[in-house]
Amino acid sequence: SAKRAGGNTYAVFESHMDANAQEQLSLQLALRQAIAGDASEQLALYYQPKFDAARGQIRGAEALLRWRHPERGMVAPDVFIPIAERFGLINELGNWVIDESCRQLQAWESQGLHMRLSINLSVHQLRQPDLVQRIGRALQSHGIAPDRLLCEITESVAMEDIKTTQRAFEGLGRLGVFLSIDDFGTGYSSLSYLRQLPARQLKIDRSFIQDLELSLDARAVVDGVIKLAHALGLNVVAEGVETEAQRDILVGLSCNELQGYLFAKPMPADDLSDWARGQGPVGGAEFSP
Ligand code: C2E
Ligand code: MG
Ligand code: MG
Ligand code: MG
Repeated sequence: SAKRAGGNTYAVFESHMDANAQEQLSLQLALRQAIAGDASEQLALYYQPKFDAARGQIRGAEALLRWRHPERGMVAPDVFIPIAERFGLINELGNWVIDESCRQLQAWESQGLHMRLSINLSVHQLRQPDLVQRIGRALQSHGIAPDRLLCEITESVAMEDIKTTQRAFEGLGRLGVFLSIDDFGTGYSSLSYLRQLPARQLKIDRSFIQDLELSLDARAVVDGVIKLAHALGLNVVAEGVETEAQRDILVGLSCNELQGYLFAKPMPADDLSDWARGQGPVGGAEFSP
């Protein structure tokens, strides 16, 4: 035990911390270099489709950032996004995502594929005074209508700094971009907070979807969240749908959109367009999240 090992344990513990700090420093340096160089050499967006729950049509896709480290291979966003946030790289990274998303939307558009894309924003980006102008410029320079873009922000961080979120959401809303609350249910925020935000969509966190089949409590929570969200005029997406039983329950609870490995994993842009073409037209000319 730690007590019996005495000083040695501390030494091991400290050197372990050092290794972790070293690791973070080395990753942030590599990430800095990736962004500073030709970012597209190491960074890429993967796209995971979202489906209309009732009709099964594609409603759009979510852009998920991927980083291929030159020596280590793929590093997960759960690892490098927090590092980017801690070391002040998230705005540059986020700006690349904004631009690349609009470029890809235009590329799909020119292939006759009318996609709608969700991007994930960090709360640090919401604090950027020129975020709204930046997104506006990116849309304009690629000839993309604002209602093709949805911005997702994780509930827990959105509610931590509700004033910042509110200000940014209002600016983005005026621009005509749609707003979505991601990973809903993990932040313990009250639904009345949601009324203060001009959000159009709510994504129920995967942890609730996972428990749907076995836990009546999870089912009651999801049922309640969907009903309240609908009462507030929000469209509801379930993330992380992996089984047909989960899908059937969610359809029964009138969830609007489904996303998860049951339908498709995140994939490169070209795979998504091939795949989407095989699925028929992208769902509904009218977008009403
Ligand atoms: P998120 O926005 O909640 O994205 C959903 C995550 O769940 C993605 O992980 C996706 O690949 C994964 N997923 C989707 N369907 C399933 C499923 O059926 N089962 C399971 N087990 N997982 C599923 P990913 O791509 O590793 O991204 C993790 C998180 O990193 C994202 O969570 C998001 O918070 C963050 N992230 C990703 N890209 C960006 C970005 O461009 N900017 C920012 N700020 N954050 C990003
Ligand atoms: Mg998301
Ligand atoms: Mg999510
Ligand atoms: Mg999530």
